[in-house]
Amino acid sequence: MAEVFGYAQFRGSQEPVIEAVCAGRDVVAIMPTGAGKSLCYQIPALVRPGTALVISPLIALMEDQVRALRANGVAAASLNSQSTDTHETFDALAAGTLDLLYVAPERALSPGFRTLLGRSEIALIAIDEAHCVSQWGHDFRPEYRQLKALCDDLKGVPRIALTATADIETRADICAQLGIDPADMVVAGFDRPNIRYQVTAKTDAKAQLLAFVQSHAGQCGIIYAPTRAATEQVRDWLRAANINARAYHAGLEAEERRSAQAAFVRAEDMVMAATIAFGMGIDKPDVRFVVHLGLPKSIEAYYQETGRAGRDGDPAVAQLLWGAADVQRLRGFIDGGEGNAAHKAREEVRLQALLSFLETARCRRQPLLRYFGEPEPEPCGNCDNCLNPPLLDDMTEAARKFLSAVYRTGQRFGAQHVIDVLTGNGNERAERFGHDKLSVWGIGSGVDAGRWKDLARQLETMDALRRDPEHKGLLLGPAARAILKGEGQVALKQAAPKPLRASRGRASA
Ligand code: ADP
Ligand code: ZN
Repeated sequence: MAEVFGYAQFRGSQEPVIEAVCAGRDVVAIMPTGAGKSLCYQIPALVRPGTALVISPLIALMEDQVRALRANGVAAASLNSQSTDTHETFDALAAGTLDLLYVAPERALSPGFRTLLGRSEIALIAIDEAHCVSQWGHDFRPEYRQLKALCDDLKGVPRIALTATADIETRADICAQLGIDPADMVVAGFDRPNIRYQVTAKTDAKAQLLAFVQSHAGQCGIIYAPTRAATEQVRDWLRAANINARAYHAGLEAEERRSAQAAFVRAEDMVMAATIAFGMGIDKPDVRFVVHLGLPKSIEAYYQETGRAGRDGDPAVAQLLWGAADVQRLRGFIDGGEGNAAHKAREEVRLQALLSFLETARCRRQPLLRYFGEPEPEPCGNCDNCLNPPLLDDMTEAARKFLSAVYRTGQRFGAQHVIDVLTGNGNERAERFGHDKLSVWGIGSGVDAGRWKDLARQLETMDALRRDPEHKGLLLGPAARAILKGEGQVALKQAAPKPLRASRGRASA
């Protein structure tokens, strides 16, 4: 390996994967971006006799790899819709002089190519971006579904499927669709120990954001905002505070986007306020923080987006600021989005997984890594919950009061009105609806309004409360029943309004 690739040693789970494939076994390798998946099939390609077939949907990536391999003296070629030297490649494959052949899936599936394969010696078949095989994945490609037939043509040839992003269902699908035993799955390397995860309730987004960025003065960071307009707003807030900031979203001219991106990569102290259009393919090692203003789409999206911080291995912070309205926004996307009921149910499960990550009082790394199928780590000492263990309040009684008040007021009002009723905050509106005559009027005056808000958010994340898509009033959700019947508990982190602080200090080792 050292001679051809110039690496002194294997990283993470490269070694077991490479050993398995060299020995002729099938593997599904789930490793994060940058973990070095390519080496997992490149080394076996050189070790095993014959040509390794690599199925990849990304032409640019294919070309890069072929160029790099050739530069290291490896006989590599590619076949895709832009290839010009197809005949030479076919001849080389037939003659057995190729070490690796990268092929676009539609090319690999063409009858002519499959006949040729039948007559060639194939070392292994690698399926890159294997999540494309699953319609539950975020990038389903129907032609991937036919790859199993191609693999089955090549009896006894080991198959290795590789991907960075796959939740549990997608993984099962990859195994099923490609005919690989789920026991042959290797999942590893998702932990990013230098990233400090922090999650905070949004109280005053602008003030919280400015305090955070100011505590990271002179560093580069990315702020993900939910809309194009919000990115520009954030940029203006930052500039007004004398912070070097730019905005980035898909609505900008291509030239403007290019220049913003280039400036960020070069910069030493720039904050990029961006939508999720920003980040893919940007290799900047010294991004010191990633802030989410609102919620990412899923835990996977969160992991990808926060993963852009601290690539150099030095301490970095992932700060997320969120409120109940952000949850509603995501639920709205799911409900209003395309797809059948089963699809929506799956999306809802994904949302729940994200919410439990946000609400957890335990080490953040535990649910995060569990989501990626890794064994749960010891408390990490480098997340908000480890550094400041939250104390819990039992709010079951209060939750019952809140849910009753939602019910008694007719499931038509927002959290603020329900809180007014509970706290007996006499106002014209409550009187107009006769809510000051209800049995729930004023029964919650012992809890302050801010705390009621926290509780309402918690109940929404637990799906004990939902918001009517039309009038936005709160409705009882499926989880409300158990709580009202005294079967479900509701605990809330004790309110300790802490200012957002910088990452300096402990993790500077
Ligand atoms: P992935 O496909 O998993 O995103 P790549 O295969 O593109 O990752 O590898 C990411 C980077 O890591 C590349 O620059 C590669 O050269 C480097 N790399 C891979 N394996 C090793 C290793 N064992 N030691 C050092 N660098 C490595
Ligand atoms: Zn932790």
